[in-house]
Amino acid sequence: MLKEIKSPQIYIPDNVHELISFYSENPNSLIFAGGTSIMIKSAYSESGSIEYIIDCNELEELMRIKRTERYLEIGALVTLSKIASIGTHVIPLSLYKALSQTATPTIRRLATIGGNIYVGASYSGILTVLYAMDSILELRSLQRSTWIPLSELILKSENQKLYIPEGYILTKIRIPSWNWNYEIFRKIARKPSQKQCSLTFCGLARTNKGILTDIRLCFGSLGNRLYRNRGLEVGFLGRKLPVQDKTIEFLLSELDRSLNPSTDRYSQAEYRLATSKKLIRWFLTEINRI
Ligand SMILES: Cc1cc2nc3c(=O)[nH]c(=O)nc-3n(C[C@H](O)[C@H](O)[C@H](O)COP(=O)(O)OP(=O)(O)OC[C@H]3O[C@@H](n4cnc5c(N)ncnc54)[C@H](O)[C@@H]3O)c2cc1C
Repeated sequence: MLKEIKSPQIYIPDNVHELISFYSENPNSLIFAGGTSIMIKSAYSESGSIEYIIDCNELEELMRIKRTERYLEIGALVTLSKIASIGTHVIPLSLYKALSQTATPTIRRLATIGGNIYVGASYSGILTVLYAMDSILELRSLQRSTWIPLSELILKSENQKLYIPEGYILTKIRIPSWNWNYEIFRKIARKPSQKQCSLTFCGLARTNKGILTDIRLCFGSLGNRLYRNRGLEVGFLGRKLPVQDKTIEFLLSELDRSLNPSTDRYSQAEYRLATSKKLIRWFLTEINRI
């Protein structure tokens, strides 16, 4: 027997306040940003539980990018191609690289950074970089507006889904100011545009007078969650360059114990672990050349 499915109605808010009020009064609504994730998931159209689709195309205030001395602020509805088009004199190089290796140019013209974060896939190169950079997110509901570290949501998350609390809309993303002496992003995949991949990695380092003053190491696509170990990173601070071989070996043995990658149809766990360790070794060797 055919199931009767009622088509959702479309609502187009003129501003963020209208979006938030409508969403709070109609929790069975679906926010439609770029639609690239929504349109490929039959679950959205077949469930029949969605009463309204909120088309966010008119919300100019969430399509802006601002750079101050303290941070880079990106509206949740800015498309991936628009952010990349601003260039590396404004956005961090590793973010630029992650954006350029996400999906295809056509998808990047539609997909928004807010949508990518909301989907929260552990293979997201963009999330790998944002996590490494200690980014914070503005979440808004009718009752409350709050800034929350992305790390907090990742640590709470399960099963490849970020835990954006129910009823909240992601409105802005802030990346604290950076002056990394060295930053890299790598995506290991058969094709750069491939969605699921073997590995994503972001490495960042800051030095001052031959001393390592900050280091960030973040991996994506190893399993359900992105991996970053602040304890390990802190252990490196204040060390003199070049990083000694025994320090590198210590870090690699720690990663052996804590990375715990999974096997799927894109990669074997052993390959993921070995490649992560190679990337770390290479990254630390490169820092030694600064
Ligand atoms: C062919 C293809 C290749 C891809 N390759 C990659 C890849 O290499 N790497 C990668 O990381 N991703 C990849 N993706 C995923 C892509 O990045 C996401 O589909 C996209 O970023 C989602 O953004 P969107 O604006 O289209 O979101 P939408 O599809 O509009 O929304 C996705 C979900 O997020 C919710 N949402 C959106 N914005 C907000 C907001 N501001 N507040 C609250 N909820 C919100 C929506 O309600 C929906 O549930 C690929 C997708 C496709 C189709």
